[in-house]
Amino acid sequence: MNDFDGLLAQVRETSIHRATTTETYAELYRQLLCDSLQHNASHIHLHCSPTELVIRYRVLDKLRLRAILPVEASDGLYKAIKQQFHLDQFERRRTQDGRTVYQAEGGKRSIRVSIIYALHGPAGVLAWEKHDQKCLQLHELGLLADQEALFNQMLRHRRGFLVVSGYGRAGRRTLGHAALLAAKSDGREVLSLEWGPSRPLPGILQCDVSGPSGVSQLDWILAALRRRPDAVFIEYAGNQDTIGELIAAARGSCLVVVSMERGFEHLIDYLRCKAIPRSVSTQAVLGGVGQRLIPRVCSNCTTIYTPKDSELRQLRIRCEAPSRLSFARGTGCSECRGTGRSGFVGVHEVAVMNDDLRTMFLQKSPPEAIRQHLLDRGMTTYYESTIQKLVAREIASTAAVAYCQHLWRELKGWITVDPDSGLARRTDRSDLEH
Ligand SMILES: [Zn+2]
Repeated sequence: MNDFDGLLAQVRETSIHRATTTETYAELYRQLLCDSLQHNASHIHLHCSPTELVIRYRVLDKLRLRAILPVEASDGLYKAIKQQFHLDQFERRRTQDGRTVYQAEGGKRSIRVSIIYALHGPAGVLAWEKHDQKCLQLHELGLLADQEALFNQMLRHRRGFLVVSGYGRAGRRTLGHAALLAAKSDGREVLSLEWGPSRPLPGILQCDVSGPSGVSQLDWILAALRRRPDAVFIEYAGNQDTIGELIAAARGSCLVVVSMERGFEHLIDYLRCKAIPRSVSTQAVLGGVGQRLIPRVCSNCTTIYTPKDSELRQLRIRCEAPSRLSFARGTGCSECRGTGRSGFVGVHEVAVMNDDLRTMFLQKSPPEAIRQHLLDRGMTTYYESTIQKLVAREIASTAAVAYCQHLWRELKGWITVDPDSGLARRTDRSDLEH
């Protein structure tokens, strides 16, 4: 039995009789941090049931039970934690958040805490911060100028429902965080509810809602909304109850940014909620921003070349002066392990709600019809974004072809590229015939 286990046994013994001293709780907190590092834990989850205080570690994305103490130990341990993070000891309602530095064996490590007050008492997450991760601002996401302007415009709303979408690991969280950072820079109070470990956002309260079992997601969301944030990002809001609460907040005074896998055109399926009529939920929607990721050309081994006609034809590019176009390709080097690519570039679509779309949502129009409406209205699509990134030499044409292949059916004509501005716009076949 090591020191920490011995200490746990002691606390288990004494806390039932409320006989544990403040010093013992302070020592418990200190050894808890030390022990979590020895277990390579990224997070420490503390959760209360009516009778127990459960301590879990998150190691490589999996939650592992570490210890169970009597629920009586919760007050003392939280008191010790709050003292370390300089938090209000008497707060019992509003969510709390703090950050501090811990002198570990390998050097200084910073750690942050989020405490939320749920049904059976506080639930807390202590997260070790990683410093190699950087959070992107809105202007660093790689949106095209017109898309960024639209996104910004939607974020300026003081209330409403905004969706960030993308399949799999398409960086929806990065989009949501950039939205929060933008709202934060406006002086608004913002909050992020996340599913699993996350990179730290300076000055923003982040809660990992995946952790403590027994606290339902609805409890987390209600606790978060009680704080009356001006803007909130929610990573996963899967059921009708949570959707209902979010729509209510979006109709009140909160900008609600929700992450969703499928694009904006599928939003109405997602907003299904018995308690709130479709007309009301549709009214709250501001729009959506979708993101896809395409491999970036390795900057260390880039070669610039003039594309062949066949290459342009394959991508359906038309250009008046093709000799003035230049593409990039990675030849492969040790830095990119011979692949010629490193990291990713985001391509986007931004859809803004309007009266026509609201009517279509109310009439249960199929997603294809909604998408067609967005295209007719001139929305810049993933295809055009991709071609602009290609012309800007951020991605290779092989990557563009691989990505655009599944979009060819939708593109009825060609993409016209202006070699000077690098702008790419689709031209319908009917336009070309005139
Ligand atoms: Zn390279």
